[in-house]
Amino acid sequence: MRAFILVLFLVSLIYDSFSQNRPNHCGTTSYYQYQLSVNPDLANIRQDLEIKTHDFVKANRGTGSKEIVVIPVVVHVIYYNAVQNISDAQVLSQIEVLNEDYRRLNADTTNTPSLFTSVAADCQIQFCLAAQDPNGNWTNGITRTQTTKTSFDINTDEAKYTSTGGHDIWDRNKYLNIWVVPSIRDGSYTGILGYAQLPGGGASTDGVVIQYSNFGRIGNLSPYYNLGRTVTHEVGHWFNLYHVWGDDGTGCWGSDYVDDTPNQADENYNCPSFPEPSCNNTSDMYSNYMDYTDDDCMNIFTEGQKLRMWATINNYRSSLKTSPGCLVNSVPEVKQNRSLVNIFPNPAVSSVLFNFDETFSGLISVYSIQGLLIGHYTLNSTKDFVLDVNSWQSGLYVAIIRNSAYVEVKKIEILK
Ligand SMILES: [Zn+2]
Repeated sequence: MRAFILVLFLVSLIYDSFSQNRPNHCGTTSYYQYQLSVNPDLANIRQDLEIKTHDFVKANRGTGSKEIVVIPVVVHVIYYNAVQNISDAQVLSQIEVLNEDYRRLNADTTNTPSLFTSVAADCQIQFCLAAQDPNGNWTNGITRTQTTKTSFDINTDEAKYTSTGGHDIWDRNKYLNIWVVPSIRDGSYTGILGYAQLPGGGASTDGVVIQYSNFGRIGNLSPYYNLGRTVTHEVGHWFNLYHVWGDDGTGCWGSDYVDDTPNQADENYNCPSFPEPSCNNTSDMYSNYMDYTDDDCMNIFTEGQKLRMWATINNYRSSLKTSPGCLVNSVPEVKQNRSLVNIFPNPAVSSVLFNFDETFSGLISVYSIQGLLIGHYTLNSTKDFVLDVNSWQSGLYVAIIRNSAYVEVKKIEILK
C-alpha cells in the first residue's frame, strides 16, 4: 500500500507541469519543479517526509487532540511605489483571516455544502504577528523594504534576499515568513497571485510570497481574490497540503493524499453551483481552500487536511511550537512625547476602555506579564475602544498600542 502511495506521489510530481497549460494563479507546483531542477535531492527529502506524514496520519486519525499551536509570522513588505507599501491594518486583516480560516471561525462556514460539513475541520492552528525579531528585539512583525523591482520571478526567488531587492528570511525555525511583493511572474507569465515552498526546501527560501493586491481583506485589492484566501491557500502548501484535484491535469488518478476530499478531475474557478461532479464523485469540494475558486467561494479545510498539516507541525516544522517569536522580550521605546490614550478603569474587572485623544487607526496587542499573546485588536478611526476582559484571570497585562507613526505601552491590571 505504501509503495503504491509513493509511486503515485512521484508520478504526480512529474505531471504537476500539466497544470501549467491552464490559467494558473498559484505558483507552488511550478516553483517546486524549479527547485527540483536545481536540487534533485529534494525528491528524496520529500519522499521521506511523505512516509512520515502517512505514518502520522494513520496513527492519529480520530484521536481528537485538543492541542492548539500558535505560529509566529513576519510579513516582509517589499514595495516599489506607495500603494504597494500596504498599511499595518491591511497586514493585520490578513492575520485575522488566517486565524478565522484555520480555526473554522470564518463567517462563511454556512456556505459549505451539507455534503461536506461532517468533515469540516477546526485545524487548531493560530497565527500571531511576531513581537521579537531574530535578535530578541521588539518588532511589530512587519519589515518594509523599498525596491527598484516591479515584479519578482518565482524562478529566481529575488524577493527572499536583501541583495536582490527583497528581504532576507528570518529564521524559518522560529517564523512563518510571508513576503508581500508588487507582482509575481513565472518567466513571462504574470498571472500568479502567490506561491509557497513545500516542506523540504532550502532554509533561506522557506515561506510564502504574495502579490500585495491579494493580501488581506482591506486596501487596494484585486477582484475575486480580495478576502485573504490566497494566503490561506499558500500557507496550506507551506504546511504540506496539495491541491485538491491532485495536480494531474484533468485526470482522475492524481491525489492530494487526503482521504476525505473527493477525487476531483481538475481545478475549479469562479464559484460553481452545488453539485459540481467529476471523476464519479457526488461533487467536487470546490469550496476547499486548496482549490482555485474565488475568495468568497472558499470556506473549508477537512479533518484529513488538518492531520496532514499537524504531521508537518509535529515533524518538519516542530521547532515553531517552542518559538519565542510572539513573546514580548523587550517593550518598545515610546516614540512620542505625550500619551495619546487613557485606559480606565485600571484595575479593571469586566471591561477596559481605551479612550484616545483623537480618532486612532492601528493595532492594540495585549500580552500577559509572562509575555504570552492574549490577542490583537484592529482599530479603524476609533476614539473609544472597549476591551472585554470578563474571561481574563487576575494579573498584570501589557497593551502595546501602535501604528506606523506611533507606539505606546500601557499596563493593565485585572482584579477579580
Ligand atoms: Zn496552490
